Amino acid sequence: MKRSIIYTLLALASLSLLTTCNNHSPNDQEPEPTDTEEPQEIIVEPVDFLSEAQYDQLIVEIVYMEGFKLNANSIYLLASFLEERIHKSGGISIISKAIPSEGKANYAIADLQALEVQYRQHLPIDKTLSAWIAIVDTDYAENKDTVKTLGIPYATSSIALFGKSIQEFSGGEEQPSPHVLESSVLKHLFGHLLGLVNKGTPMLTNHLDTQHDNHCSNNFCLMHYTAATSLFYVNFPGGNVPSLREQCLQDLEGNGGK
Ligand SMILES: [Zn+2]
Ligand SMILES: [Zn+2]
Repeated sequence: MKRSIIYTLLALASLSLLTTCNNHSPNDQEPEPTDTEEPQEIIVEPVDFLSEAQYDQLIVEIVYMEGFKLNANSIYLLASFLEERIHKSGGISIISKAIPSEGKANYAIADLQALEVQYRQHLPIDKTLSAWIAIVDTDYAENKDTVKTLGIPYATSSIALFGKSIQEFSGGEEQPSPHVLESSVLKHLFGHLLGLVNKGTPMLTNHLDTQHDNHCSNNFCLMHYTAATSLFYVNFPGGNVPSLREQCLQDLEGNGGK
């Protein structure tokens, strides 16, 4: 039963991602579900994270493969970021555990979904919302030659970080520290779950980077597209974790956040 709920969550999550890209017409027929158990339907919207109308608690479930445990400061920064931006008077808890390597050369979205089905323990229930973060021990399968992706939001409550790529682009000369880079990627990806930019949280003013879907045109902002790519140090040379700038902050507040 639990597994079927997770499959449904993943299916719905990928469906809602697809519908934001493809302009489905209302007449589009979706295939009939084959599961006769009538599993619970869970669709997480950015407003569910931002406001507490639906959920007043949040559990952030982090799993990491050996050698890719997050720095304690990175978890602290993520917690502070969430406390500052979202309403969850019942509390925000972050739990973290190790999982074994799968020995893969890289991860495509289908691989990340399978990993989540295998290990995710917390799904939104009653007044408690949940988010899932996986740090895998290799790279994204869809990397282009020139720019590497350090992490992706691949469903409405699910994030993956590519640990090997983050290590490759941090800690060296002119590179950010591993803590700064992983914190930036984590916060940036959570920004997407919160609906930035124009990804479920409406823009109050136009700050959309038209060349890079769902990113901010302000190149000082956390939601600039470079913040979760190998171009991080080119755009953010100061060695600090970037923060959200005015227009992104206004959007979050406008959609029930703070
Ligand atoms: Zn992004
Ligand atoms: Zn911004």
